[in-house]
Amino acid sequence: MPNTMEFNIIEAESTFLHPRKGFAPEKVRFEVRIDPLTGRTGHYSHFGAIKPQRLDLEHYKKPDVKGFCPFCLDKRDVATPKFTADVYPEGRPSRGEATLIPNLFPYDIYSAVMIMADDHVVPLEHLNNKRLYDAFVLGIDFLKKIRMLSPSLPYHLMTWNYMPPSGGGLVHPHQQYFATEYPGNQFIDELAASKRFYLTHGKDYWTSLIEEERHAGKRYVGNVGASHWLIPFVCLGILGDVMCVFPDVYCIEDFKEQHVNDLVAGLLKVFAYYLAEGIMSLNASLLFGPEGQRYFPCHLRISPRTFLNMRDCAPDLNFFQAILGEPVCVAMPEDLCKDARKFF
Ligand SMILES: [Zn+2]
Repeated sequence: MPNTMEFNIIEAESTFLHPRKGFAPEKVRFEVRIDPLTGRTGHYSHFGAIKPQRLDLEHYKKPDVKGFCPFCLDKRDVATPKFTADVYPEGRPSRGEATLIPNLFPYDIYSAVMIMADDHVVPLEHLNNKRLYDAFVLGIDFLKKIRMLSPSLPYHLMTWNYMPPSGGGLVHPHQQYFATEYPGNQFIDELAASKRFYLTHGKDYWTSLIEEERHAGKRYVGNVGASHWLIPFVCLGILGDVMCVFPDVYCIEDFKEQHVNDLVAGLLKVFAYYLAEGIMSLNASLLFGPEGQRYFPCHLRISPRTFLNMRDCAPDLNFFQAILGEPVCVAMPEDLCKDARKFF
């Protein structure tokens, strides 16, 4: 079989005279990797220099720190919006502790926020099976509903900022669900490259990726039912990503209850891994391509986030990501895979 997928690594080193080693010459290695799908690059450097910082979750509960939280039960009824009757006649649909509300700051025509729990501060270990399941079932139902209401919006997304290092404006756990024609540059690049791959090779890149990674064994973490979990060759997050691919789901309508079960079961394994690593904050996205194509299956990406330090809460993103649009990762995907695999 000819190679259809290339995992290119540019390795190099920089030499300097080290101040803590009597100014002896020191060589430090770094890598640039080229994403086999999009051709985008990512830097691997600063190995081991950034560790996830421990967040003081009790601190976030203090009234003067907490401030006004519209998602807390005592404020929710008066402070959060309701859907119009054509979307949800009941205004704010709920399932268990999960409650869906329109986004006060909408990303598109139909844009919702999922309040995932009653409690204001929910540590990762309390994002349990029931809370996750209820949130994803209700959120996926919303995406299917807005597909009917607005079929011209081709892409459906779940996005998630969890805890302050992730950029989340509220500590109270919540996700966003929306449909759009403009899902972001990364999404559009992946989609266009997936189509090119399909037209060139006559098969879906993502299914090929699973086969390739499973065979190589260096970045394939494991499967949960029909979902496949792996570490991307080029991670977007500074502490590395976990990715999950659903090879039989091409659009929102294909995502069934069993997929939610697999998603939640896999996420719980990832969270157990994160707890062991001291990771307390993350970004995540679940992406659905347009109807009618067979080259861009649904996939989830999770990136751990941290402050660089707790002294001045410096963010873990800098000019690389903000200006150059270049991811930097301080851990090798192959090492992350060995650690994550213990939990699958
Ligand atoms: Zn709250």
